[in-house]
Amino acid sequence: MTDKQPLIARLDASTADFSARLDALLAWDSVSDAGVAEVVDEILQAVKTRGDAALVEYTNRLDRREVSSLADLIVPESKLHEALESLPAEQRQALEVAAERIRRYHEHQRQPSWDYTEEDGTRLGQKVTPMARVGLYVPGGKASYPSSVLMNAIPAKVAGVAELVMVVPAPGGELNAMVLAAAAVAGVDKVVTVGGAQAVAALAYGTESLPKVDKIVGPGNIYVATAKRAVFGMVDIDMIAGPSEILVICDGQTDPDWIAMDLFSQAEHDEQAQSILVSPDAAFLDRVEAAMERLLPTLSREAIARTSLANRGALILVQDMDQALAVSNRIAPEHLELSVADPDALLPKVAHAGAIFMGRYTPEALGDYCAGPNHVLPTSGTARFSSPLGVYDFQKRSSIIHCSAEGASELAKTASVLARGEALEAHARSAEYRIKV
Ligand code: NAD
Repeated sequence: MTDKQPLIARLDASTADFSARLDALLAWDSVSDAGVAEVVDEILQAVKTRGDAALVEYTNRLDRREVSSLADLIVPESKLHEALESLPAEQRQALEVAAERIRRYHEHQRQPSWDYTEEDGTRLGQKVTPMARVGLYVPGGKASYPSSVLMNAIPAKVAGVAELVMVVPAPGGELNAMVLAAAAVAGVDKVVTVGGAQAVAALAYGTESLPKVDKIVGPGNIYVATAKRAVFGMVDIDMIAGPSEILVICDGQTDPDWIAMDLFSQAEHDEQAQSILVSPDAAFLDRVEAAMERLLPTLSREAIARTSLANRGALILVQDMDQALAVSNRIAPEHLELSVADPDALLPKVAHAGAIFMGRYTPEALGDYCAGPNHVLPTSGTARFSSPLGVYDFQKRSSIIHCSAEGASELAKTASVLARGEALEAHARSAEYRIKV
C-alpha cells in the first residue's frame, strides 16, 4: 500500500502538540510584497500628479483597453439599467430579493443622533452624519462578484451616502452584466471601468474627471490591497481582508455531506482559504472525511479546494462542546457555524466571530448571498476587535455641547484649574470669562 497524502489534517485537542499545530495552521501573516509596493507607489504618484492621463495609460496597459480619454471609461447610467433588463428573469429576481433583504437588515443598524439635558440646562449629545462620497472597489480580474456589490453598496446607501462611485476593471473591455445589474439594484451613482492601484489612487486623490472620495471599501488583489493601505489616512478604508475562513462546530448529528459541502464552500474560494471542523465525535469526523473524499471530485473548482484543504484545512477532535468553543474563540473565525441541536445554548460562550450561523439549517452560503447580514467580515483573527461591514462604517459622529450660562460658569471653574495645571493660559482665561461673579 502506498502512503497517500491526507485530504485534510487531523488534530486532537487533547494532545501535547495541539497548540503548536493549531498555531502553524493559522499563520495569520498579512500579505505584503516589496516588489508590489514599489509598483503601487509609482502608480499612486503618477495618478496623483497626472490625473486622468495616467489613469487612462495604466488602464490601457494593465487591462488591455484602447481608450483615448477617461470619458470612455465611465459607464453611462442607461447601461446599468440595460444590464438589469438583459438578465434572465431568475437572476434579476434573485438580485432583487437579496438586495431587499440586505437593505431591510441594514436599516436596523442606522444610528440616530441623540442628546440629553442636564439639570443646569446644558445640553450634550451626538450628531450622526453620513459620509458624503464613498468609493467601492469591485474586483474584475479573475472573478466577478455581484454579491460583493450589494453587500458594500447597500449599507452605504442606507447610511445616507450621497454619492457612491464604483470602480471595476473591465479587462479587454469585458464587463459582467450581473455586476452592472447589481450596481443598478443597489443604487450606485457612478460606475467607472478602472481597476487596480490606479483606481484606488483616483478615488483617494481625485482626478480632473473623478471626484475624491472619503472612504474606499471593497476587496481586491494584492495591488488593490497595497494601494488601499498606502492611501489610508488621507481617506478611510474598510479593511485589508485576508483569506476567507469557516469554522464549523458540530455535535455529530448533522448529515456529513452537508458539513463536507459547507467546508468546501470556503475551500473553493482560493488556495489560502481555511476550512475547519471541530467535533467531540471521532467517528463523525471519519464520516465527514469520507464524504469529502467522495464529493470533492464532483466540484468544478476541485483543484483549488483540494489545495486549500491540504494547506490550511483541519478536522479537530475535542472532548466536549466547551473545548470546541475554546478552540473557536482562540481562532476568532470569520464564519462560525454552530451545527448543533441547540445553538442558543452555545451562543453565550462565543466570544469572537465575524458571523454566527445557528443550527443545522443555516449554512454560511445563505449568509454569503441573501440572508441579510453583511458578508464583509473580519478575517485572520481580527474578529477579536472588529465587526462586520455595516451602516455605522459609513457614518461619523460629531459631539454636541451647548452650555447654559449657569452650566458654563460651573464647568469653567473646573476647566480653569485643569488648564492652569497644563500651563495653558488662554484656555484658562477663556473659561474664566464665563464664570459668573
Ligand atoms: P482585481 O480587480 O482585484 O485586480 C485586477 C487589477 O489588478 C487589474 O485591473 C490591474 O490594474 C491590477 N494588476 C494586475 N496585475 C498587475 C501588475 N502586474 N502590475 C500592476 N497592476 C496589476 O481582480 P483579481 O486580480 O481577479 O483579484 C480579485 C481578488 O479579490 C482576489 O484576490 C480575490 O480573492 C479577492 N476577493 C476577495 C473577496 C473577499 O470577500 N475577501 C471577495 C471577492 C474577491
